[in-house]
Amino acid sequence: MEWQAPPIKRRKCRQIKVGNVLIGGDAPISVQSMTDTDTLDVDGTLKQINDLYEVGADIVRVSVPTLDAAKTFKEICQKSPVPIVADIHFDHRIAIEAAKNGASALRINPGNIGAKHKVEEVCKCAKDLGLPIRVGVNAGSLDKDLLKKYGSPCPDAMVEAALRSAEILDEHNFIDYAFSVKASELNLCVASYEALASKTDAPLHLGITEAGGLQGGTVLSSIGISWLLKQGIGDTLRVSLAANPIEEIKVGWSILKSMHLRTRGIDIVACPTCARHGIDVVNIVKSLEDRVKDIKDELKVAVMGCIVNGPGEALRADVAVCGGNNNSCLIYEDGVLQGKIEATNVIDVLESRIRNKIEKKLDNKIL
Ligand code: SF4
Repeated sequence: MEWQAPPIKRRKCRQIKVGNVLIGGDAPISVQSMTDTDTLDVDGTLKQINDLYEVGADIVRVSVPTLDAAKTFKEICQKSPVPIVADIHFDHRIAIEAAKNGASALRINPGNIGAKHKVEEVCKCAKDLGLPIRVGVNAGSLDKDLLKKYGSPCPDAMVEAALRSAEILDEHNFIDYAFSVKASELNLCVASYEALASKTDAPLHLGITEAGGLQGGTVLSSIGISWLLKQGIGDTLRVSLAANPIEEIKVGWSILKSMHLRTRGIDIVACPTCARHGIDVVNIVKSLEDRVKDIKDELKVAVMGCIVNGPGEALRADVAVCGGNNNSCLIYEDGVLQGKIEATNVIDVLESRIRNKIEKKLDNKIL
């Protein structure tokens, strides 16, 4: 029998509901991103939300910087295929307007909302409408008194900021909130989440903030988020990249799939190639990813350059191809050799076999 990693034991926490998406408890870890369009541009924002939904976004956050934006936000919420979180800073009136206009949750930083009564008004509004709140602490905007007390951003300061922010919510018996304690410094961020996880039973939204561009940010986020997930910490996540938000969703899903926490779509195993390769693995994978990006059902595909490791990977794949001699390659299904084809046909053959396999799986489900 194939070796399997022991399942990750999730940290116990209470559950909140963002639209139709459950966060915390034993709910699947959801993947989020944030639009980077102008919220006044309803069509552009909805287009991006739909694109994010297509690649697997469970939730999308939209910044609502003005009262005018809170008005266009209404149509965005009405037409969105996923629950929308309103991201609010500084002005509690915008939070209240966005909540009334269809937000499925509010993300606020109580520290910059100002006077206690303003946070209380937001809390009351969210409670009346049944909306959860994410209390988002960021190392870059810690309160001055905490910086003075601790000298610089540190896990204790981050945790104190989070718990202090939630005090007002607790005072009003408002328990539908989640925390995030984000920092761009990896170790600080991870240590802050670890420290907070032992002090609250609220769900935790994970993310390494301002992680950088596509490559650097993916590496940083993957290390930090998986480090926490492996400990059972984390109930929803956003990979923060200075890149197209679609990449954030793709990376988020890759993290969850790699850790066997969720499954979605075609999983491609591919060798890095070397002088032995009999097929153009790099370009086959690139084309195949594009051809099968619409498939949401789970399937494992292996694209291997030669017979050194090809047959071994084929054993663990639903569909596999392995480079052979004289511009040919071998096709496998469920580890069993199906035959030899010309390398020039490999992408068409792989796509067709993948789609057939998915159809068969669906037929079996229906039966
Ligand atoms: Fe090289 Fe073959 Fe290994 Fe691919 S499977 S890296 S081509 S030896």
